[in-house]
This record gives sequence, structure tokens and C-alpha cells, in this order.
Amino acid sequence: MQFTFLLIFVAFIGVSTVLLNVFPTTTSRDVVMANKERALLNQGNVLSSSLSGLERLSAEGVSHVMELVVPGDYDRILVTNRAGDILYDTAPNPAGEGESAPLRSARSGESQFYCSYDGDAFRSEVITPVMSYGSLIGSVHIFDNDLEQARTIHSVELRLRSISVLLFILSVLTVLFVTLRLTRRLRELAGAMRTVREGDLSRRVAVKGQDEVAELAETFNKMTDRLESTEELRRRFVSDASHELRTPLAGIRLLSDSIAQSDDMDVALMREFVSDIGMEAERLQRLTEKLLRLTRMDSGVVSERTEVELAPLVERCVHLLQPLAAQKQVQFETELEPGVRICAAEDDLFQIVFNLAENAVKYNREGGTVFLRLCAEDGQAVLAVEDTGIGIPEEDLPHIFVRFYRVDKNRSRAIGGSGLGLSIVHDAVEANGGEIRAERREPEGTRFLLRFPLLEEKREEKEESV
Ligand code: ADP
Repeated sequence: MQFTFLLIFVAFIGVSTVLLNVFPTTTSRDVVMANKERALLNQGNVLSSSLSGLERLSAEGVSHVMELVVPGDYDRILVTNRAGDILYDTAPNPAGEGESAPLRSARSGESQFYCSYDGDAFRSEVITPVMSYGSLIGSVHIFDNDLEQARTIHSVELRLRSISVLLFILSVLTVLFVTLRLTRRLRELAGAMRTVREGDLSRRVAVKGQDEVAELAETFNKMTDRLESTEELRRRFVSDASHELRTPLAGIRLLSDSIAQSDDMDVALMREFVSDIGMEAERLQRLTEKLLRLTRMDSGVVSERTEVELAPLVERCVHLLQPLAAQKQVQFETELEPGVRICAAEDDLFQIVFNLAENAVKYNREGGTVFLRLCAEDGQAVLAVEDTGIGIPEEDLPHIFVRFYRVDKNRSRAIGGSGLGLSIVHDAVEANGGEIRAERREPEGTRFLLRFPLLEEKREEKEESV
């Protein structure tokens, strides 16, 4: 990439400097030549028309006219007759132009101009025909060597060339510096990406400046942050899950070993042990079911959403929890507005309400109450699950939806809890477009508030009746 950049820039700068050198000098040369052509042709025409008064051109006649006309300061003026013989010459032997240099011949009725530039001088020649009564009788040749303008143009050329070389070197160095810096930063980023790909998620890159590469570096850092925290969560989840699974498994192992190792175990004791094994197995089953549910939700499997009426669903949960509530001497009090419908996965909703109501019974005090209130409010279905139980300390409230988080580990374990129920509730609420909030209930207990968008049809009915 660096090489390609450099190549493109060098080619671009090279072409620009060549153009910058050639264009102004050729233009100024053309301007000088055009001026010369105008001046010399003018002078030639003046001389030719002065000579055209003579019927025939002779050396004396021409000299006489030339003395009268007094041409300007030119290097050489010569006049020839029709045959090309020189009749008048201001510099019979000019430096650098030997006698032998053949003269260009005049063309009838047509002036000619020649000019060349060789770096030292503009060498110009103009030939104008001398006509008498419509026929060519001779020609006037004016030669002019302009050293001064040539020198000026030459020095401009030299200066332009040195400025261009300097500019070229400076541009190449700048491009080299910029591409080196850019590619070094990109190489650094690519190196960091390789390290992350190989498994080191702690690698970050320094964010310098505010350009696109800095933006890329920042995005990379954020992405790696996220990867790292996801990986950390995954690791913690696996380790917590293994830990949770180990406890009932160890219990089963201990109980079965005791049965296997005793030869004359009392039948009643054996029954008790076997029943304990059954309970531990049940706990394992519940745990694995919850783990499976969470993993399914994590992998983004979306259950099909249908129209669900909430009141009957809440009543079903209450009915199923009656035996547990009776055992704990807890009562249910419900206030359910009929006809509150939302669009959600029914199985998810059942799991949400059941888990919250079950917790409200489990963490209640003996003789306590569980309140379930449902209503439609501001286009939302609002369900409150409240209890008069032990409550959740303020500092634990922000963490209760975290997987395996328990406020009181021993108590939760003792009543068969896993610390997964509320995280399943939280994920299921979000997957169904709702919101959940937990707060302390005054004077005692906990309140969970759920909000789901109402089904359109219900909202419209309400608006009509207003
Ligand atoms: P668990 O299976 O342990 O009940 P949950 O995820 O359902 O797991 O709940 C997490 C923790 O939050 C529980 O261990 C308990 O300490 C606390 N908790 C949940 N619901 C209530 C409640 N209604 N009252 C008091 N504490 C609660």
C-alpha cells in the first residue's frame, strides 16, 4: 500500500512539475517571437516599399535609399536583386554567419519570417519582397539576434527548474512521511487484530488524533471491550453453571455411596435417602431446563408472538402456585383488568409471570400476601407483582437480574433456587418488547413492575371511548 501510494504521488508530482516548467517558458518564448515577427515585418515592409520606387535595383540606388530611410538597429540588413545578388549589406562578414551561408530567396508578394531560440539568443530573419509595377525586382533581408530577452527567459527557466526540483524533493519527502505514518498505524492495528484473533482479548491500540484511522482504532477497542466482557460473562456463566450442577450431583453421589456401602441399612432410612436422591435429581432437572432456556434466548431463537390476553394467563399461574402458597400460608390477591391484550410469545409470558409470582411466594413471610395487579395505561399493559416478604436490600436491586445472583445464597439454595429465574424473566421481557423494574415496597416486601406495549386494537378502542 505504501509503495502504491508513493508511486502514484511521485508520478503525479513529476508530471505536474514538468508541466509547470514547460508551459510558462514556451508561452513566453512564443510571445517574444510574435513581437519580433511584428517589428521585423514592419521594418521589412517599410524598406521594401521605399525601394519599390526604383524601377530597377542597383547598388548605388539601394544605398542611396537606405541612407535616407535609416533603418533601426539590426544585426544585418541586406538587399538583393531578383537574381539573388547582394546589392547592399550592412554587415558583409557577420560573426558566425559566413559569406557562404545561402540566402533564402524571396517569394513574389509574400513576406517570410523565421525565428529560432537556442538558449543563448533569439535568431530571427525576415524577408520582404520588393515589387515594382506588380513584379518582383528584389528582396530585403533583416537579421536580428536578441541576446537580452534570451538571457532573461533562460534565467527564468533555470529558476523554475531549481524551484521545481526543490518542490519535487519536498513533496516526495512529505508523501513518504505521511504514508509511513499512516501505514505504520494501520500495521499496528492489523497486528492488534491478529493478537485478538489468536485469543488475547486484552489487547488494545492507542487512539491518536481524530482522523479515520483513529476512528478505526476506537471502534476496534470498543469491539474488543465488548468481546472481552462477553467472553468474561460466558466464562463466568460456564463456571457458575458447573458449580451449580456439582452441588446436587455431589449430594446424589454421597447418598448413593452410603446406600451402596451399608450392608444392613434400615429400609426407612434407605427410603429417605432415595427420596433425597429424587429431590436432588429434580433440582438438577430444573436447573438444566433453566440453563437450556437461557442458552436458547442467548442464541437469538425467537418464539412466535401471538395475541395474548394477560388476565387469564395470570390466573393460570396463580392456580398452579396455590399448593406452594398454601404450604407457606401465603395468600394471593388479584385485581386484573379484563381484555388487556399484548402481542408476545405466550410461553415466555407464562414463564415471566410464574417466576415472579413464585419468588413472591418463596421469599414471603408466613401469612403474607402476594398482590397481582393488571391494567392498561397510556398505551401500555402494566402488571405489578408485589409481596409482603423479606424484601431486597437497595444495594442488591441493580444486580438481581444478573445470572446466578442471589441476595441470600443459603436461603435461596435451601428453597431450591438457582439464581437464574430473574435473569430468564429479564431476557424474556426484553425479547418481547417490554420493560421490567424492581423496587422496594413500602412498608415491606418487593414490587416488580412490568410494562408491555398494548395491542393496537385495544389502544384504538380506548381512544374511541375517550
Ligand atoms: P432464585 O432461583 O434463587 O430464586 P432468582 O433469579 O429468581 O433466583 O432470584 C434471584 C435472587 O433475588 C434470589 O436469590 C433472591 O435473593 C432475590 N429475590 C428474588 N425475588 C425476590 C422477592 N420477591 N423478594 C425477595 N427477594 C427476592
